[in-house]
Amino acid sequence: MNGIFSERMYEIATRASSKVTKIEAPYGKPVDSEDVRRAGKGKKVRMIGLAQGETSTGVLTKIEPFRKVADELGALLVVDTVASLAAVPLHVDRERVDICFSGSQKAISAPPGMSPITVSPAAEEVFRERKTKVQSWYFDLTTAMNYWGKDRLYHHTPPISLIFALREAMRLVVEEGLETRWERHRLNQLALIAGLEAMGLKLLVENPSDRLPTVTAVMIPIGVNDEKVRNQLLDEFNIEIAGGFGPIKGKIWRVGLMGYCSQKPNVLLFLAALEKCLIDQGFRVGSGAGVGAAVKNYSQVEAAVGASR
Ligand SMILES: *Cc1c(COP(=O)(O)O)cnc(C)c1O
Repeated sequence: MNGIFSERMYEIATRASSKVTKIEAPYGKPVDSEDVRRAGKGKKVRMIGLAQGETSTGVLTKIEPFRKVADELGALLVVDTVASLAAVPLHVDRERVDICFSGSQKAISAPPGMSPITVSPAAEEVFRERKTKVQSWYFDLTTAMNYWGKDRLYHHTPPISLIFALREAMRLVVEEGLETRWERHRLNQLALIAGLEAMGLKLLVENPSDRLPTVTAVMIPIGVNDEKVRNQLLDEFNIEIAGGFGPIKGKIWRVGLMGYCSQKPNVLLFLAALEKCLIDQGFRVGSGAGVGAAVKNYSQVEAAVGASR
């Protein structure tokens, strides 16, 4: 657990009356797989869960070390990729993620309401060998699997219109190319960060390789009013950013650059707008510093890409 979405997995597992052990990391950092290894030693661990992209803090967790621990402990690996699928490198088969679940509405940019999920042969075997029924009909994969399998045994009425929308969104992902899309998210975040840092702002996630490209958590400078800035961004510029949850409420802003939203014009407009809001509150920012740094970042990256062609 390193934020509210990985905590939610804990909450769900507890409600399903599983015996769950929490391994926590401070907000702004990924969980250390070593801590999980230590906690699991000598115990019968059935499953390890983590969020690849923890949206509440903007932290990216590397999957591979947890796969190693899961192998050692004979556990299944479950990964929440709601805020990372189609934006951040993910290799479900190569990294042997047993259960990978996501959402249609984040980086895939389809309407909300669906949760794409994959199940490995190892996880499927666990379901098939269950001696008791799954407590919920809604999320009973033992029966749902017979629906999406070749038997096509009815389990629920599928939301047809959403499936069409998801298919269209996936078509756009394929048209752009998955790798190109990952790179787009990475570059737009780098430009955003260059702009924020040039304005004298600090990020919650210190280690660059722990930063989730879809959500950037910015520390709110002392003396600046969290809500005022967010309201002004919305009222004056039609831009919505999020605040922090729980212990970091009022301490961070969360800037989303996901799927369709991860675009150069959005980055530049946001930096200009944020600068205006900060200046209005008396926070000293070098005029145009944020936009200038982001533009420079884009130009340098594009020149480098051009030179390598
Ligand atoms: C948004 C999000 C969720 C929850 O998705 P809902 O569709 O709102 O239930 C879960 N995990 C992560 C990492 C998310 O970003």
